[in-house]
Order: sequence, then structure tokens, then C-alpha cells
Amino acid sequence: MRKSKSHIALVAGGAGFIGSHLCRALLDQGHEVICLDSLQTAREVNLDMLEGHRNFTFVRADIVDPLPDAVTRRRDISRIYNLACAASPPQYQADPEHTMLTSVVGTDRLLRLAEQNGARFLLTSTSEVYGDPEAHPQQEDYRGWVNCTGPRACYDEGKRAAEAMAFDFARLGRADVRVARIFNTYGPNMHPDDGRVISNLVCQALSGEDITIYGDGSQTRSFCYVSDMVDGLMRLMESDMPDLQPVNLGNPDEYTIMELLEEVLAQTGAASRVIHLPLPVDDPRRRRPDIRRAQTLLGWKPKIPLQQGLALTCAFFAKELYAGSAETFA
Ligand code: UDP
Repeated sequence: MRKSKSHIALVAGGAGFIGSHLCRALLDQGHEVICLDSLQTAREVNLDMLEGHRNFTFVRADIVDPLPDAVTRRRDISRIYNLACAASPPQYQADPEHTMLTSVVGTDRLLRLAEQNGARFLLTSTSEVYGDPEAHPQQEDYRGWVNCTGPRACYDEGKRAAEAMAFDFARLGRADVRVARIFNTYGPNMHPDDGRVISNLVCQALSGEDITIYGDGSQTRSFCYVSDMVDGLMRLMESDMPDLQPVNLGNPDEYTIMELLEEVLAQTGAASRVIHLPLPVDDPRRRRPDIRRAQTLLGWKPKIPLQQGLALTCAFFAKELYAGSAETFA
């Protein structure tokens, strides 16, 4: 990716899985990074790789609360990335009110900060805005099939509201916004207890525990390796958007959960028992991004196939589980 001029970037959720890789990539490109994180779902050790860097500042705060002085006093922030939100179904459902407020109140606070600084703002939205989609693959103009009263609604509807607010700020000329709809992403720095399918299956396989497949495993997902995702987010932030539209970011290679399981078993050589648990309520049956818009506007497409990304992820979790150390950045 072409190097942009140096920025002061605020990364909300910068201690989390994708956020920590983004902070690293921004620092590597010579930018100054202020990481704002509540550490609610982040692995604190993700910060270890960042904290020694002279251009890195960590501020512990929850974006649901009024933003701290360390951030509001600034007038020189030129980029704001909002990645702050629990994103794994068991975690975002653990405190659904807080999840909804993180997306709605938190995004409002950060949009106002963008307005005050004249900063460009990037919202990380989600493929969950498409709900359990009837359209396949999912294009950005598909409006989704979301259950607004179900257990996933706190996340899905929170992100939909955040998108609405970001586009209103843009329409009113209050902030220059970008909206990424992130599809399933995986890689080093995920929390072993995150609860998502790749971290669960790999950790269960590596530790010889029963492997949990929800439902019959015929549901599909399309998995994007984290370095590809970070590249997409940075390209989107620096792009000139011709119109007010969201952009799907994800890897279009689609797998059933049983196919994913086969790949995990092949890579780990695990002999774990596979148990089938009930399919969670409103679990989407199929998901695959249409990424033509990202390809055209950003010149972006994922480079790391599942096999390769899974090998890197297995190596990371093996180190996590057996050595108790976590210093891997892809
Ligand atoms: N899943 C599974 N076993 C697990 C965790 C998840 O079979 O231990 C399934 C889950 O029901 C869903 C898919 O894997 O169909 C992806 O789930 P994940 O929580 O990773 O993300 P989602 O795409 O549902 O937000």
C-alpha cells in the first residue's frame, strides 16, 4: 500500500484483536497512535508489543462514558478508527445493553471528536448488518434480514444505528466518514476464550478437548486473515470515496463449518471428539462478501488463503497455550 503522510490516529478498540494489528501497522508506517480501549474484551498482552513505541499512547477508557481529557483536549487528531465493541456473539450478548450503547453512544462521541478535530472517521461496521441474508453473496446494497428483537440485535442493530449516524454526520458536512463492513476475521492476537469459531476449534483441537460444532455444521462463513483486513481498513481510510456508501471487507472464499473443522483437524493432527451443540438463535446460515466495490475503489483483495492463515493462527495459539507467551504479530 502507498504510504500516506504522517497522521495522528486515534484507534478506539486498539488493544483488541484487529485493533492491535492496526495500531502496529500504523506505527510501522510512521504515524502517531493513540489507542483508546476499555480492556473489556481485549487481551491486555496485545499492548505489550505497542507500549514501548515512542509514537504510541494508551488511554484506558470506555467510549460509552464521556471521553477522557487526554483525548478531548487534542485538536491535532486527523484520523479516527472506531473498532471499539465486543464482536464475538457470546461476548456481545453477555451485556447487550452495553453493546448497544457502545455502538450508538460511543460512535456519537467519536464522531463529535472527529468534527471537533476536522478528522476523518472510519466506522468498523459488520456483515451482521445483513442478518441471516436471503441474498448471496452479500452486496453493499442488500438491506439485510435482521431480527430486531433477537439476541443478536444488540450488536446488529447497534451497528446499523452507528452506520446511520455516521452517514448523517457526513451528509450534514460534520465529518468525513468511511464505513467498513467487516466479515469474519481471524488470526494471531485473538483471545483464546473469544468464543468465535476459529479460536474455539483451534484451541479445542490443540488442547485435546471436545470440539464444539453448533448445529450440523452446514452453515457457511468466509474467513479473512487479519493482515488482509488491516490493509483493507487503512486503504479505505486513505481513499477518496466518490459517494456515501459502506464497503464490504472480507475474504470471499466460503466454507461450511464442517469444512473448516476438517482443515483444523488436518493442521493440528488432533484426535479430539466432535460434539454437536444446538445452533444459536438467529445464527446466519450463509455468509460471503461481494467485494467488487473494495476491489474497484481500493484496489484491495485478500491475499492469504485459509490454509496459510490457519497455519499462522495455529502456531500463535500453540505458543499461547503451551508457552504462556504472546508476542506474535503476523
Ligand atoms: N460455531 C461453532 N462452534 C463454535 C463456535 C461457533 O460451530 O465453537 C459456529 C457458529 O454457530 C456460526 C459459525 O460457527 O455458525 C461462526 O460463528 P462465530 O461465533 O465465529 O461468528 P459469527 O459469524 O456467527 O458472528
